[in-house]
Amino acid sequence: MKLLKNSMKNIVKHNYLISKKDRQKLNNQNSFLIWFTGLSGSGKSTIANALEYKLYSEGYKTYALDGDNIRKGINNDLTFKPEDRTENIRRIAEVANLMVDAGLIVLAAFVSPYKKDRKNIENIVGRNNFVEIFINTSIEECEKRDVKGLYKKARAGEILNFTGINAPYEAPENPDIEIITDNKTVEESVNEIYKTIKLKLKDD
Ligand code: ADP
Repeated sequence: MKLLKNSMKNIVKHNYLISKKDRQKLNNQNSFLIWFTGLSGSGKSTIANALEYKLYSEGYKTYALDGDNIRKGINNDLTFKPEDRTENIRRIAEVANLMVDAGLIVLAAFVSPYKKDRKNIENIVGRNNFVEIFINTSIEECEKRDVKGLYKKARAGEILNFTGINAPYEAPENPDIEIITDNKTVEESVNEIYKTIKLKLKDD
């Protein structure tokens, strides 16, 4: 730890000529992070994907982060035990933060079950750059959908630490947007999110 602190002392920030503001201006958009949290199978990736499609179609520069491109790459050393889940979210937030700095609208779809981890994302990217969307789908509905067959495996005891079955999900109390998918189509959900973030999309 001491060694790490000493080496950090020698990191001196270089002043670059191009700022985040410049990149946003060139992209003709604001940049921020749209974070989807909810149970596995709740619809996070489906809705993030449809929202990204809409934004892209309108000329916005976006990037979507999800388990596929993160857990197989930068975080392929992490498991689903609580400490690793925390580290998983921290790294994703740092990656997203760089992308926001690069001038992109980032969509991230992760279960992110712990409140303290989601608070940490907000601290890393900053409150103004963070939109938290709670995809609120009942566990019964997620289990019925069981898109990836994971609930069946978890019930059979083949997966440890599976959120909603044998690991907790701490629902957000004050999300920026809450979507209850049990009574909404994907299109309706996207439109609702779009309406809420519309003013945020353009650089100010
Ligand atoms: P997650 O990313 O939250 O694990 P996915 O998006 O991978 O969830 O899977 C959600 C599944 O639920 C998809 O197969 C999707 O088609 C289905 N689904 C059914 N109704 C809805 C809805 N109203 N909103 C979002 N997804 C829905």
